[in-house]
Amino acid sequence: MNDVERIGVADLFRIGIGPSSSHTVGPMFAAKRFAARLAERDVIDQVALLRVDLYGSLAATGRGHGTLSAVLMGLEGRAPETLDLAERDHRLAQIAGGDLLLLNGSHAVAFAADDIVMHPFTRLPGHANGMCFAAEDANGHTLLRLVGYSIGGGAVQWEDSREAGVTTGAESTQDDRGNRDRIHTPNDRYDFHSGAQLLAMCEGGASVSGAMRRLENARGTADVELDERIDRALGVMRDCVESGFSATGVLPGGLNVPRRAAQVRQQLEAAGGYTRELETEWLAAAAMAVSEQNAAGARVVTAPTNGAAGILPSVLFWLEHFSEVSAVELPERRRRLILAATAIGVLCRRRASISGAEVGCQGEVGSACAMAAGGLVDALGGTAEQVENAAEIAIEHHLGLTCDPVGGLVQIPCIERNAVAANTAVVAARLALRGDGSHRVTLDEVLDTMRRTGADMSEKYKETSRGGLAVSVVEC
Ligand code: SF4
Repeated sequence: MNDVERIGVADLFRIGIGPSSSHTVGPMFAAKRFAARLAERDVIDQVALLRVDLYGSLAATGRGHGTLSAVLMGLEGRAPETLDLAERDHRLAQIAGGDLLLLNGSHAVAFAADDIVMHPFTRLPGHANGMCFAAEDANGHTLLRLVGYSIGGGAVQWEDSREAGVTTGAESTQDDRGNRDRIHTPNDRYDFHSGAQLLAMCEGGASVSGAMRRLENARGTADVELDERIDRALGVMRDCVESGFSATGVLPGGLNVPRRAAQVRQQLEAAGGYTRELETEWLAAAAMAVSEQNAAGARVVTAPTNGAAGILPSVLFWLEHFSEVSAVELPERRRRLILAATAIGVLCRRRASISGAEVGCQGEVGSACAMAAGGLVDALGGTAEQVENAAEIAIEHHLGLTCDPVGGLVQIPCIERNAVAANTAVVAARLALRGDGSHRVTLDEVLDTMRRTGADMSEKYKETSRGGLAVSVVEC
């Protein structure tokens, strides 16, 4: 359990690129950090040899998840949030054609995708997504060696914190972008480590979104900065739905999966537009639009991961087109949705996991569904108890869900899974809003069950593509 880890809006809603937060965004951050450390130590000009090893799930499905390209781009000093996608493709073609890699954007060294060493059957002790970066000088002396883990949602944890210049745990943390966090302890009076604690904080009628805002404020993020961050993520999510609704063709990777969101949108518009009868299909279509963009390696927001990135934008789309919320109220309700979703995501990550490589798809799509359901209840004015109830319902019906993407690509079953989970989130929110928040199984109990179920799950079903659909479907 990551009980002392500081998690907030910036961690669960990262602007990045597809197709995978743990396999694309995290490794790119890690490689970028490694290159930056070489520069900070003033040894980058001495680098004659680079070595990158990927372990476990990163090696098993890394090719289909864009990990190799992400590592190359990170080593060149590029970040997922600002990466120009056309420039990326051009630069990768140049490196594949024999150009030297520009370490941290400056020091030329011979290194290409084929030099990355894969260890699919070796799991490092810290996590299923292990990475080792090493640089040597011309005499074979090691200048820097870092071992890190892509722990889900684009976050990276370093094993040798002193070597990385990073301290972890209750004292302080430093994220993969090199930003030092403020001192933070589990006793932080605004923090919560269980659903029960969150509910206790909201006693007297306070909202979950309000509790999350207070926590962010207590950590030093002022309201203006927080709202800007949320609005930026919301803007990228909206753009992603729109671009997914316009894009056509076949998704990359070799499975020949056609994009469908644009066609479904046209059909729904022709059938009457935003009518109540078409509500579930719109939810599915919006989720698919984002998931197809993610599969194509486009700009997306982790919510909380890339594989599950379609669910929250779809529920936000529902809030805009199908709820009673007025246009004037919409901006504030959207922010509430994101804040309450973050609070639920904090609990998912602390009490269980949001990593498919750690607990299977229940941790990705299950967590995203719970975040969307709880966030929607808050945005619609529900109580904290109803938020907790909605999140619990959403998780409960994803327990045991395995991760078995065909061909190691985030396409089958991922795209349709997002479509179905977006609908589940709205149903869970509606059910919770029909009640008074009292229910038999708590969110804490269901999250603890998810963690234990993930521990019991065979490694085959944790983003390795060695079981389930991945071995039942003929790829060509
Ligand atoms: S099956 Fe689920 S966890 Fe696995 S890659 Fe797809 S969305 Fe992610």
